[in-house]
Amino acid sequence: EPFLIGDSMTGGYGNGPDILHDCTIAVEKGEIAVIVGPNGAGKSTAMKAVFGMLNLRSGAVRLDGEDITALTPQARVAKGMGFVPQTQNIFTSMTVEENLEMGAFIRTDDISDTMAQVYDLFPILKEKRNQPAGELSGGQRQQVAVGRALMTKPKVLMLDEPTAGVSPIVMDELFDRIIEVARAGITILMVEQNARQALEIADKGYVLVQGANRFTDTGKALLADP
Ligand code: ADP
Ligand code: ADP
Repeated sequence: EPFLIGDSMTGGYGNGPDILHDCTIAVEKGEIAVIVGPNGAGKSTAMKAVFGMLNLRSGAVRLDGEDITALTPQARVAKGMGFVPQTQNIFTSMTVEENLEMGAFIRTDDISDTMAQVYDLFPILKEKRNQPAGELSGGQRQQVAVGRALMTKPKVLMLDEPTAGVSPIVMDELFDRIIEVARAGITILMVEQNARQALEIADKGYVLVQGANRFTDTGKALLADP
């Protein structure tokens, strides 16, 4: 069975209608999986469901063979999930380093090695570590958000539109960093509105339409026959 699986997820917000209809997202260990699709298709909702921010009416979420459907988001973090939501919630008046330290809140061990790894991955964050995060550019703030999620040493990193609102050059750079994260052995599941560029780096792609899987294939196959 795949490492992370949102299995036949059906559910919606509160008492509202189903947004997800039998939606299945399955990610192998070490893979980059990308969810694309039109606005309002339910991409963010699928991510929230996998992370435990949406109650499923049916279906399940499993990580590394374990059923985690009933777990809170925080408990999922403890199981090895990291999530970078679409809305940047970095602390603008805290320094870059303080933001990274906040990311490690669930850890009780020494975080300096992980901090060094994040700084290796994002040298600009090391350079600006003592500056308030609010002084950074949009792309650099995204790096803070990704770096902070990495501070928990996740097995799976989930990203909701990491390149939203950044320039094409910064987008390419962020994708390069995400590839490096995957090479370091961290499984990636992300939502992207820049479908073409994202599918280029994807091992697997999901096209969601109206809360259901329309196409599921390798990134390359989806690019060849969109
Ligand atoms: P996408 O990420 O593909 O743009 P979303 O998952 O954000 O789509 O939204 C899918 C549908 O769910 C939309 O109809 C949207 O209005 C609805 N929706 C999203 N968030 C909420 C919410 N917090 N409460 C109620 N409906 C929501
Ligand atoms: P997305 O790009 O994911 O579709 P939106 O801009 O639609 O995001 O939504 C921004 C925020 O508003 C999200 O937190 C989402 O959950 C919430 N939201 C979206 N649609 C609705 C809705 N119909 N009712 C309540 N909240 C919503």
